[in-house]
Amino acid sequence: MWNIMESRGVSSIIFDLDNTLVDTAGAGLIAIQKVCELLKSTHVQESHIKDICDCFLRKLRHESFDPSEGKTIDEVRIHHWYEALQETQGTDPDPALATNCYYTWKKTRLQVLTFSPEVRSLLEELRKNYKLLLLTNGDTQTQWEKIEAARCEGLFSLVVVGGDHPEQKPAHSIFTHCFESAGVRPQDCIMVGDSLSTDIQGGINAGVRATVWINSDCKSLPQGSVTPDYTVPSVLNLNDVLLKLR
Ligand SMILES: [Mg+2]
Repeated sequence: MWNIMESRGVSSIIFDLDNTLVDTAGAGLIAIQKVCELLKSTHVQESHIKDICDCFLRKLRHESFDPSEGKTIDEVRIHHWYEALQETQGTDPDPALATNCYYTWKKTRLQVLTFSPEVRSLLEELRKNYKLLLLTNGDTQTQWEKIEAARCEGLFSLVVVGGDHPEQKPAHSIFTHCFESAGVRPQDCIMVGDSLSTDIQGGINAGVRATVWINSDCKSLPQGSVTPDYTVPSVLNLNDVLLKLR
């Protein structure tokens, strides 16, 4: 019986979203360019613009968002822009400018965060033979806005956002939630993602059949890192892995 069940093969694919299915990093660059254009049209000194944007990005990278503190993610990120303007220029900025920077950045990022036609058709093909799950870390509002912008509906049997749960990837609990909600077993699934510390580590902890690392920059594995079962430069190479797992 055990052998029969083991021979069933992969029936389900769990995907990460950011920088796996959508080019979040690329969308972020385009969004920052838009804010630079906006700032050029204001009284802000041109020599300050790059520093303001770099300062915002640093704050974004080190952001720790706790919804229980009573602020929305929009408010927190408007404040990042306010502080970036303030710290770079050494004066208190117009709060309206910080708000304008934020919504320009956010709107542009969401507009360009779509599945490429190639990724969309890959998912449409895969869903004929596999149960597709989307498992993304991040805060609830930001991630659901991205999911809506990428028009994910209909492509996935299950969409899970880390911020909606007590623990995010790589925690075992969020993977267990996925398996139970989708009615699949860990050994039926592969985990596909660009982050070694969350996607690959999480997949290994959860006991999935195989982990697939999306390594678009062709980086070498950092010392002491977990080792993915497969490494591909793009999600568009996933069929090569699936063939090997048959
Ligand atoms: Mg990612």
